[in-house]
Amino acid sequence: MPEPAPMPGPGAAAELLALDRRHVWHPYGPMPGREAPLLVESAAGVRLRLAEPVEGRDELVDGMSSWWSAIHGYGHPVLHDAAVEQLGRMSHVMFGGLTHEPAVRLAKRLVDITPEGLEHVFLADSGSVSVEVAVKMCLQYWRSVGNTRKQRLLTWRGGYHGDTWNPMSVCDPDGGMHHLWSGVLPRQIFADAPPAGFDAGPDPAYAAHLRELIGRHADELAAVIVEPVVQGAGGMRFHSPAYLRVLREACDEHGVLLVLDEIATGFGRTGALFAAGHAGVTPDVLCLGKALTGGTMTLAATLCTPRVARGISSGEVPVLAHGPTFMGNPLACAVADASIGLLLEQDWAGEVKRVESGLREGLAAAADVPGVVDVRVLGAIGVVQLDHPADMAAAGRAAAREGVWLRPFRDLVYTMPPYVTGDEDVARICAAVCAAAGAG
Ligand SMILES: *Cc1c(COP(=O)(O)O)cnc(C)c1O
Repeated sequence: MPEPAPMPGPGAAAELLALDRRHVWHPYGPMPGREAPLLVESAAGVRLRLAEPVEGRDELVDGMSSWWSAIHGYGHPVLHDAAVEQLGRMSHVMFGGLTHEPAVRLAKRLVDITPEGLEHVFLADSGSVSVEVAVKMCLQYWRSVGNTRKQRLLTWRGGYHGDTWNPMSVCDPDGGMHHLWSGVLPRQIFADAPPAGFDAGPDPAYAAHLRELIGRHADELAAVIVEPVVQGAGGMRFHSPAYLRVLREACDEHGVLLVLDEIATGFGRTGALFAAGHAGVTPDVLCLGKALTGGTMTLAATLCTPRVARGISSGEVPVLAHGPTFMGNPLACAVADASIGLLLEQDWAGEVKRVESGLREGLAAAADVPGVVDVRVLGAIGVVQLDHPADMAAAGRAAAREGVWLRPFRDLVYTMPPYVTGDEDVARICAAVCAAAGAG
């Protein structure tokens, strides 16, 4: 293997950062950028190596798994070898009229490990696109079976489903800044946010609220779409899996499809391989992304049942009219298949439980930090909620002083570490979360 090129010296780092500021958009950022990003030189195991030290650290333990995707850490040899091996064959070929082993093997594996009843796989290039495809599947299903009235979606408040138009329309209407897009976004139907607490018994009044709303709008509802068990980027809230059974029953009763967005929760993060498994529910359509390739590159998938596929394929336009240029990218599929194989061949549930215990122990101290209103842990997810917006810069510096990379948002300081994070590093992450929660 060729040696990686040497990193540019300190002057070059300053130049790169100046160019970055002038030319490069960053997520949810203004132009030119307001904050100075850290320049990452490389990543290995659970550590990011920085081109320039921050708070005296040139390495940070990654508490974010690169937005929850790098479940095996960085540079894992199994993923690396899968990528190199596939590069030797082909990195990409078009998917129209052609197929290949990596896509077929991955699709079969996804069908095997996802809830019983999901049989068909559409490979997309990002989570948001997989949600677009899910929405298209549901709307087209109803048209195809002769019902053109069912065009709207229902979700509960506090959700996040991505940044393209249809996903934005089912993001939390306040957090998702719907007011900025009034008249542009499709208008969907919002239930109240689910009552908080994974272990809290289901609230009968809330279940009745869900049933009533679905029943009242059944005529115009194509689908209900929610994140199961954990609402991620919308607020890092946990809820009782029992509400998924309520949704499944109400959808069945009223002829509405159910979409579960497991882009954040899939592949073990909540302690179940898929969060739907906490409730024993099979959706009609399932979205996967983020950890699908173990954080190596972008790939997402939308799975559906034979009923949905048959409905679409028997319609007046009997095809699903969607086909991204990089659909089924062989390189991404090969790495995804290797990543899932790697996950399943180890005691992933035990590892997630171990990280969960470490987070419970280490984050308990956060409850005593002034301004903290809630500390919650589920699987490999640890959340500290403040009574004020986090000072992102000060919190980031406080975490870096502990040798950890964290990226708080709104009133939340949280971590979703790679499952391979050792006990000492989990403790270090917890110390950093506590320090970040008290910063600013
Ligand atoms: C991240 C996320 C998305 C969007 O995925 P992208 O790959 O960022 O487009 C959608 N839904 C959920 C639940 C997510 O966490």
